[in-house]
Amino acid sequence: MAINLEINSSGKSGVALQASPVWNDESRLVEQWARVRARLQAEVGEVEYRTWLKQVSFAGLAGDEAVVLLPTRFLRDWVNKEYGELIAAFWQQENAAVRRVEFRTGAPAARAAAPDLAEPPPTAAPATVPQQRPESLAALDQRFTFETFVVGKPNEFAYACARRVAEAPATAGFNPLFLYGGVGLGKTHLMHAIAWELSTNARGGRPVSVAYMSAEKFMYRFINALRSQSTLEFKNELRSVDVLMIDDLQFLIGKDNTQEEFFHTFNALVDAGKQIVISADKSPSDLSGLEDRLRTRLGCGMVADLHATTFELRYSILEAKAQRAGVEVPPKVLEFLARKITSNNRELEGALNRLVAHANLFNRQITLDTAHEVLHDVLKAHDRKISIQEIQKRVCEHYNIRVAEMSSARRARNIARPRQVAMYLAKQLTSKSLPDIGRHFGDRDHTTVMHAVSRISELIGQDAAFAEDVELLKRLLEN
Ligand code: ADP
Ligand code: MG
Repeated sequence: MAINLEINSSGKSGVALQASPVWNDESRLVEQWARVRARLQAEVGEVEYRTWLKQVSFAGLAGDEAVVLLPTRFLRDWVNKEYGELIAAFWQQENAAVRRVEFRTGAPAARAAAPDLAEPPPTAAPATVPQQRPESLAALDQRFTFETFVVGKPNEFAYACARRVAEAPATAGFNPLFLYGGVGLGKTHLMHAIAWELSTNARGGRPVSVAYMSAEKFMYRFINALRSQSTLEFKNELRSVDVLMIDDLQFLIGKDNTQEEFFHTFNALVDAGKQIVISADKSPSDLSGLEDRLRTRLGCGMVADLHATTFELRYSILEAKAQRAGVEVPPKVLEFLARKITSNNRELEGALNRLVAHANLFNRQITLDTAHEVLHDVLKAHDRKISIQEIQKRVCEHYNIRVAEMSSARRARNIARPRQVAMYLAKQLTSKSLPDIGRHFGDRDHTTVMHAVSRISELIGQDAAFAEDVELLKRLLEN
């Protein structure tokens, strides 16, 4: 295929952008690409998207071809084979000039990083099929059932609570059920499991109506209702369900009107003896930026925490998933993955999926060697440990202060705030303890660090521009 490769001004190889009058606008292409990605994500679901498509970058338009890049040959071939048509179709809908998509191996050029910023932030709702009505089950992932949930020490309590609610909704003491824990630990899985159980095993004749949505979706629908002056219908619709589930409640922080609306819906439902299930990344008491009266009500049912995974749980999850997929994965490989990929179950699952796909594609057995080969990018990311020094350096660069100020005694706001940001990031991005972190900041006490962490969390909830700043720093450090 004749693609005109040339060296662009930054010295990186890139694909020449077509100088056609309408489509030569690069930022426009970048926007279109961002929309293509968002649609892909919505189409294939979050796990698949993260496993395969997240790494696709856009290099440019060459003639009537959109050129996209993947980091390895294996990924290039796989994505081409499995998603080529879909990507081409979405591109074509965005831009009639695109007739084909060309898959190449390569790293994104500097400017191609732009689509990543346009990518829906990790706050996006689980990308299951968009739902039309809250009681519709279209938003539920078929695979997220109690049967497929692997129980271990870190999640047994949350699992038991979820089971209990699915068996007997609105039992005193379990309403609301508040599930919390870090990313990828199974909150959404458990919520969907409850919804499936309730809607498929209707007891006593009348089917139980369940509304499940992410907090973002809730907000989106509420805003739309305001706009189209149909808030009454929105309210009635929500208040007519037996079970209301809101996933990732932390996204309501700082959205005062939506929070207010949610609070009223919440009260109306609880008063009417309906069940509420909520998930969030933190416990009610740690969700700063939430109105106090809402926080109080959220905490007065059952609060269950999903802890970070353990080696044993990760191993069991891998074993169960491999078995379900009907593939043989040697125990050594399972052990290797369970030891290496410790962040969360979503990444674990993604890694296994990739391994299985590779084995199928090349008709090869899964071995430690193939695992190393296929997952080297994932493994590399996990090997990388961010140091407190790195964090301090980045933060100082960002705020234009000297690194020495991180340990100094100065308390002027323009110094103290960046210092707090650095402490916050150290807590988030490293596994260091609070006293340990304090030592890196001029021997400060662990309570100072604790205060910094909560102050910054609070500010993130209140100030969108500040939140963006911190998020950016975090991304820079993670890459
Ligand atoms: P969260 O909502 O907490 O971010 P999810 O529920 O979306 O996490 O889980 C991420 C992925 O990991 C999903 O594919 C889910 O099925 C899987 N997963 C998480 N916990 C378990 C578990 N205990 N057993 C089986 N799969 C799990
Ligand atoms: Mg989730």
